[in-house]
Amino acid sequence: MKVRFGEIPDEGLRFEIKDESWFPDHELQRSGPVLAIVVLKRNGVDRVLLEGKIKTTLAFDCDRCLENYSMELDSSFKLDLEYAAGHRLDSAEHEVSPAEMDMIYLEEPMVDVFEILSQQIFLMVPGKHLCSESCKGLCPRCGANLNEEACDCKQELKSSPFAILKKVQP
Ligand SMILES: [Zn+2]
Ligand SMILES: [Zn+2]
Repeated sequence: MKVRFGEIPDEGLRFEIKDESWFPDHELQRSGPVLAIVVLKRNGVDRVLLEGKIKTTLAFDCDRCLENYSMELDSSFKLDLEYAAGHRLDSAEHEVSPAEMDMIYLEEPMVDVFEILSQQIFLMVPGKHLCSESCKGLCPRCGANLNEEACDCKQELKSSPFAILKKVQP
């Protein structure tokens, strides 16, 4: 879905996107529909402000216990898009300020909305996937899911360092 800068009227454009074709299905798992809202506003001849929102339910495998769990995603983002083909970005007079962190330079005066959505969703996904902050994970010894059951491995080790040896030797 591509919108040329020239197609954006002064009052801006708002899209409610139910088309899910932009969603990176091969990289992210989800367990619900995806809704995206994108608002485009002109900010001078060569600039467009983009405000976006993505709502969906993602599914991950927990890093600790390996169980699949769902996570509600409802995140917004803002981007400052600038058509910058005319001037080199690394020129000396180009000052980099923190405010430019979310600045995207385009080679054409055109917004590729789906492309932006599929990039932004990765920034919204947490780096660590935990079904809960207090997930106990799997027992490294017997592989039991410690959220669901308490295995005896720890207890045996605690009670006596020879407890396991005793068990093995008849
Ligand atoms: Zn877990
Ligand atoms: Zn165990």
